Amino acid sequence: IGAALLLGKCLQPIQQGVGGWRSFVDAREQYDRLNGLLSRFPEEGVKMPLPEIKGHLTAKNASVVPPGGRVATLSDVNLDLPAGTTTMVLGPSAAGKSTLARALLGLWPTAQGEIRIDGAEAKNFDREELGPQIGYLPQDIELFDGSIAENISRFGDVDPNAVIQAAQDACVHEMILALPDGYDTVITGSRGILSPGQRQRVALARALYRRPRLLVLDEPNSNLDEAGERALGSAMATLKAAGTTILLVSHRQGALPIVDYLIILEDGRIRQQGPRDAVIAQLQASQQQVQQTAQQQPQQPKIKAVGKPEN
Ligand code: ATP
Repeated sequence: IGAALLLGKCLQPIQQGVGGWRSFVDAREQYDRLNGLLSRFPEEGVKMPLPEIKGHLTAKNASVVPPGGRVATLSDVNLDLPAGTTTMVLGPSAAGKSTLARALLGLWPTAQGEIRIDGAEAKNFDREELGPQIGYLPQDIELFDGSIAENISRFGDVDPNAVIQAAQDACVHEMILALPDGYDTVITGSRGILSPGQRQRVALARALYRRPRLLVLDEPNSNLDEAGERALGSAMATLKAAGTTILLVSHRQGALPIVDYLIILEDGRIRQQGPRDAVIAQLQASQQQVQQTAQQQPQQPKIKAVGKPEN
């Protein structure tokens, strides 16, 4: 009995080693993957600081290929959006709207042509400096493990006044106060106590943190109810009044009244763009033309239904 007990004790570390082997192999694989990923994105050198951005966006013959992809999902884009204006991007699914949003922020580089913010290409900015001047609400929202205040302040120094202002701008202050620990309520990245609509509104507050000069909202209302939609409209109006350049990608037309420019994308190309009213007039004219052409087409002779001959 003593020998069996001793043998069991002696074999215990080996048994534990065998049990933990799978985790060890997993950790090694993940370490190799992480190293491979980091080597594809070498560390950036020190960049000369540039003045604070105003938010003037320009694109010249810009084409964009998603990272790791081969086909351009945005081609030959030319645009000039003055600082402080609000632009709405419309278009069917897979038209390239999100690609345009990412490219304008410099998240996806141009394969051809150029995209500039205040005359400088995004890659020429120090990301640490450019980041805080930009607000981005992507289509797939990601919140991170931490408190609501930390999430809104982008996990930098939590400035309570700026956090509350961002929450008030996003009309989400009262909703946060109603949570069990208010701004200190801990949320998790994947799930938690927030509904999809609430997550979207907290993510909107994060995008509005410290009132950025450039705000890009990609389908910000996909999970919002009527109150959330109103809050979004009021947030955009506040930021517009503060001089922020806003780019809004949306299928819904609720924000049209405060929009200055419209861009219509189709198959990765700009089909129409310009001041809002001019683009709407063009769309209405082409719709009328289509209707008129349909009316002018010769009518097909009606085919009589063949039934049983009447007696
Ligand atoms: P939706 O309204 O459905 O969000 P969208 O207009 O925003 O669509 P994008 O998301 O820009 O369209 O996608 C444009 C095209 O780019 C699509 O054909 C899509 O398959 C492709 N695409 C998007 N992201 C990637 C990626 N990471 N890698 C490869 N192709 C991509």
